[in-house]
Amino acid sequence: MDKIRFGGDYNPEQWPEDVWDQDMALFEEASVDTLTVNVFAWATLQPDEHTYDFAVLDRILEKLAAAGKTVCLATSTAAHPAWMARAYPDVTRVDFDGRRHVFGQRHNSCPNSPAYRRFSAELARRIAERYGRADNPASGIVVAWHVNNEYGGTCYCEHCAAAFRVWLRARYGSLSALNEAWNTAFWSHTFYAWDEVVPPNALSEHGGGPDVTAFQGITLDYLRFNSDSLLRNFIDEKSAIREFSPDLPVTTNFMGMYRPLDYFRWAPHLDFVSWDNYPPDMQSHARMALTHDLMRGLKGGRPFWLMEQTPSQTACRAFNPVKRPGVMRLWSYQAVAHGADAVLFFQMRQSRGASEKEHGAVITHGGRSDTRVFREVAGLGEELEALAGEIVGARTYAKVALVFDWDSWWAVEISDGPSRHVSYQQTLIAYYRALYERNVAVDVVPTGADLAGYDVVVAPLLHVIQGDLAARVEAFVEGGGTFVTSFLSGRVDESDNAFGMDAPGPLARVLGIRIDETDALAPEDLNAVVFDGGAVRFAANLVFDLLQPGTAEVVGVYESDFYAGTAAVTRNVVVGEGGSGDAWYVGTNLDAGGLGWLFDRVLGDRGLLNAYSGLPGVEAVTRHRDDVAYLFLLNHGDVAADVVAETDGVSLLTRTPVRAGEHLTLAPKDVLILRSRTC
Ligand SMILES: [Zn+2]
Repeated sequence: MDKIRFGGDYNPEQWPEDVWDQDMALFEEASVDTLTVNVFAWATLQPDEHTYDFAVLDRILEKLAAAGKTVCLATSTAAHPAWMARAYPDVTRVDFDGRRHVFGQRHNSCPNSPAYRRFSAELARRIAERYGRADNPASGIVVAWHVNNEYGGTCYCEHCAAAFRVWLRARYGSLSALNEAWNTAFWSHTFYAWDEVVPPNALSEHGGGPDVTAFQGITLDYLRFNSDSLLRNFIDEKSAIREFSPDLPVTTNFMGMYRPLDYFRWAPHLDFVSWDNYPPDMQSHARMALTHDLMRGLKGGRPFWLMEQTPSQTACRAFNPVKRPGVMRLWSYQAVAHGADAVLFFQMRQSRGASEKEHGAVITHGGRSDTRVFREVAGLGEELEALAGEIVGARTYAKVALVFDWDSWWAVEISDGPSRHVSYQQTLIAYYRALYERNVAVDVVPTGADLAGYDVVVAPLLHVIQGDLAARVEAFVEGGGTFVTSFLSGRVDESDNAFGMDAPGPLARVLGIRIDETDALAPEDLNAVVFDGGAVRFAANLVFDLLQPGTAEVVGVYESDFYAGTAAVTRNVVVGEGGSGDAWYVGTNLDAGGLGWLFDRVLGDRGLLNAYSGLPGVEAVTRHRDDVAYLFLLNHGDVAADVVAETDGVSLLTRTPVRAGEHLTLAPKDVLILRSRTC
């Protein structure tokens, strides 16, 4: 489909059948073309262990086929039926505190439960067999498979313990290698039999809570293991689907920056990435942009689907503001600007009961089309229909990469010392925001990415250095690149052990510094970093590396405390065969102004600032397809913005020509898509 897909989750098995025709008419009115169905219907599809009943799903798909819609067909395995929990009590999870759960909620299955693995794969197999075959009338409308839903959570049961030991054997091969990796001579932890290893939870290593572990190596491996366990559930189902549907793409909906799952390890197993965007507040533009870029980065820049967003409000928080007029449209285009080829909602008709009855929906309980939300949705649907033939498949080209690393996220936050207040996510957002506010395109990449194509690589809190990462960073800088990293980088290996050398370990040489001490203070205890010989100063807190510059020049110094006047921010120039590069180290948690100052300098040095850098409230993002560039201008602000067009082109949403140098007025929350030729 050469059109941005539009629609969303549709769960008609949850409401009376006599409104289905009304739904179809409203879909038509809103230009909806794609529905995600069968996400939570396991109990309907399989009323007992031996019976499968597809009658309701048959009728739903027949209705959608008759209405000319396409379908993303889910496998319904994110919430097991009550009979399964009764017949197989070990299908439920054991929580962090060691309590075996009984039936309830969703995302409630132990990923290593033999019953769950068998029943979930069998359900996926039967669905694929029924609807993936060409002789089923519905098969023609299914365009993608949607496995499970928002995989997540952790289990600590006996099945998981046994599977953890199998996972460890595969990783380490021998107990001596495991003991070495985990540094088990500490606190007399040496293991002499695999069965002595138990999951790290509140009953074992985590007396102080989920983020407070006595043994980082064990916890880090359990985080990896848990992510892999859930991934294996996905692979179980995908393999079952592939028996009957060899070609249709398979996905599962991710949750953006979701700590428990290393999506870079998952992404190769998905045919395309999709994700659900539920920002924590109305001021999350930079965070959402980062998350879209991360989702695009999971598969090396390929477009993704926005699988869910609410058309108005969520219901899961203490208070749930509605999206103000224009915001749903603005955020939808933001997703498209960053690489989405589908804009889908949760959900199409509002739930009658349970925890989502107040969750926003395109069609409310009253079934009306004259609500503000429906009108805005229908307006967007009409616009996207008019954009058919444009944008889909277009790519993003960035000269700046932001390194995102789940291992570092986990390791830096489970570390005992120097600070429990360091947030990987908030730090990444802060660095990204400085780039975002300068409207510089960013690729979010894993540690294993090829860095050669970038001018600037930004890697805050690159805590774990494994494999040849340090050598590749050195080669990048020697080749003329600019590398920027921060406090607590280069501190541990893949097993969370310190390097037998000065911090920042394998990164020390390229950074040209040595760290002798790291001070860590309460968040409210501020210091400052002074740049340009005292001309500017910016607040800093949390962590303060006491740096010994070797070959690095001192760019900023601490303002106070016993280390006043010593290096806080450094830059090491490296001359290599490929040119002259530089490596920056930021030894403390600089405030937004400080990071802005830093990136004005870094991006300015590289000639990466542009006409839209620093335009308040306006986000500028470009996608490219063949010789066409689509520039999205998004006004997140509350006042109109004046933007000067850089090139001749066409304003796609109004179909009006635009001349280079022309002043364009962008109303608050409004969007402008400028199409131009690149050659
Ligand atoms: Zn388990």
